[in-house]
Amino acid sequence: MIPRMDILSMPATFCKGRNDVRLVANLDGEEFSHFRLREFENGDGLAMVHGSALDSLERTRRELCAMAKEEVWLIVTDGVRTQADLERLAARLGWTDEGGAVSRNSKHLSRFGGIAVDVVAVVRRTRARVPQRTLGAVCRRYFVWVKDDYGDGHVHADNRGVLETS
Ligand SMILES: [Zn+2]
Repeated sequence: MIPRMDILSMPATFCKGRNDVRLVANLDGEEFSHFRLREFENGDGLAMVHGSALDSLERTRRELCAMAKEEVWLIVTDGVRTQADLERLAARLGWTDEGGAVSRNSKHLSRFGGIAVDVVAVVRRTRARVPQRTLGAVCRRYFVWVKDDYGDGHVHADNRGVLETS
């Protein structure tokens, strides 16, 4: 047993293994597991992902690999956000209702249950980025709502529809 004060003063590396949990999605009777919980963390290590988002990610990844005829990494660059995360981001990028890039009603907020992800895709062998519009087009087949015109090349995808149907 480690005394509590020692835990508080320990470096972050003590958290090694935190959220290092493989997530499994069942697609049409077959299990797929290419994502870990830690990929959905915010800066404080809080993680949340909706089952439908994991399912959509695995389907998107499977199709990207089939299209490329080789392994493609689908990388989650942003998952769940707290209100404080959102306000920090808006301080940098601005709110959409003021001409910026951050929605006040962002589907990344934890109150939406982890339905939103930001992703990029990379061909494993060559490390070449899959073009943003190509990734966006595949995401549109498996997510309810997709935005693929961000300047930094990422694609936003979410399953906002599940909120009404479940
Ligand atoms: Zn996003």
